[in-house]
Amino acid sequence: MSYLIKGETCDWEVVIGLEVHCQVISESKLFSGASTLFGGEPNTHVSVVDAAMPGMLPVINEECVRQAIRTGLGLKAKINKTSVFARKNYFYADLPQGYQISQADKPIVGAGTLTLDMPDGTSRDVGIERLHLEQDAGKSMHDQDPKRSFIDLNRCGVALMEVVSDPDMRSPEEAGAFVRKMRSIVRYLGTCDGNMDQGSMRCDVNVSVRPVGSDELRTRAETKNVNSVRFIMQVIEFEAKRQVGVYDNGGQVVQETRLFDSKKIETRSMRSKENAHDYRYFPDPDLLPLIFTDELIEELKAELPELPDDRKNRYVGDFGLSPYDAGVLVAEKDTATYFEAVAEGRDQKLAANWVINNLFGVLSDRSLSITESPITAGHLGELLDLISDDTISNKIAKDVFEVMLETGEAPAKIVEDRGLKQITDTGAIEAAVDAAIAAGPNQVEQYKGGNEKILGWFVGQVMKATQGKANPGQVNKLLKEKLDG
Ligand code: MN
Repeated sequence: MSYLIKGETCDWEVVIGLEVHCQVISESKLFSGASTLFGGEPNTHVSVVDAAMPGMLPVINEECVRQAIRTGLGLKAKINKTSVFARKNYFYADLPQGYQISQADKPIVGAGTLTLDMPDGTSRDVGIERLHLEQDAGKSMHDQDPKRSFIDLNRCGVALMEVVSDPDMRSPEEAGAFVRKMRSIVRYLGTCDGNMDQGSMRCDVNVSVRPVGSDELRTRAETKNVNSVRFIMQVIEFEAKRQVGVYDNGGQVVQETRLFDSKKIETRSMRSKENAHDYRYFPDPDLLPLIFTDELIEELKAELPELPDDRKNRYVGDFGLSPYDAGVLVAEKDTATYFEAVAEGRDQKLAANWVINNLFGVLSDRSLSITESPITAGHLGELLDLISDDTISNKIAKDVFEVMLETGEAPAKIVEDRGLKQITDTGAIEAAVDAAIAAGPNQVEQYKGGNEKILGWFVGQVMKATQGKANPGQVNKLLKEKLDG
């Protein structure tokens, strides 16, 4: 998929790398026992460690470490058997320690791969450079009082995994696909809830441009803390055009940190970008290196759930679904769970068709998630059984589906109450077929003259007479026998 920006002198391509901060699912913080629950009263989930009281010492939360290893395994990445926490020094009011405990040159996870599933059904691999563990900072609130700012330390010390991609993406669509896939993987793993609107996943977007055909990496600008897929794509579009404009006017793009204004859909310079050495990183003397045995890594690997790529391959290989349909079904874990409940012990292609072509449309019209579906997986499965055992036709099934949406009733009850059972009694169908033939001497002439399409007229007559309940296969067979005979 090529994404080009037309400049005055040449065409340009965009080079994108992402840093995704994922909040680790754990009950307590990375180095303290305080709760990580979202939405508490300000400063109620704060221990003396988080508030950086003098003499308090951090104690590593083992579950956060396991979560980071699981995520690394999910990204097919190298788990580093020795990693080191380092202090990243800077001053800000919402960082009472005066430094963030992070990881610098020895992160917990090294190089890996993430496969993008593009909307046209193709896929493409993007390199993962690393994943490291670090603490989150608190929150500054500047909008509560005209003169003062307030600080909420509830988030201070919560464990984050920062995933850094290689600069492998070349379009806003690829960056969007990267974040969606990342979110899907951590949700399958249960290592991050992926809720971008609550800040559990936030993205720093690194963008540079270069003339098409060049392989240089030019100076990039980093836009911080972008919190939706749509915004990330908007940042890239805006930045690419802005930087091409700078070069076209004979200027140079400067290395800087920018902020996104989602109302004006533009980025603005925040500060000139600091380099790693500005932070005076050094190993944290209060914490020992993390050292893992092969057994621990193997144990966590053995416990991993089936991940979206494997599940997609299984749907294609075992169920015979198209890669596109399989990709749609596995993208969200909850959707895959629903689909599997419908497909269990049934025709998987039929199940996929009904979930994708009938249910998804309704959910998107009503802005519902799959867990809010008005039709349970159990009921949809029962509807498919009624089709498979010829109790109802596909056409009647669509009507039953509509009633299920409105009433939430079981399909068998709807079919029973409304007398929708398919007529498979040969005698009854034969009577309707005979009546249709008797009613259309002209049509019989046409059919005998070689117009096979006219058969549809007879089928229509029979269906009308039986209120759509005659078994279509039997109707066709009988009509042909009688007309040909
Ligand atoms: Mn970070």
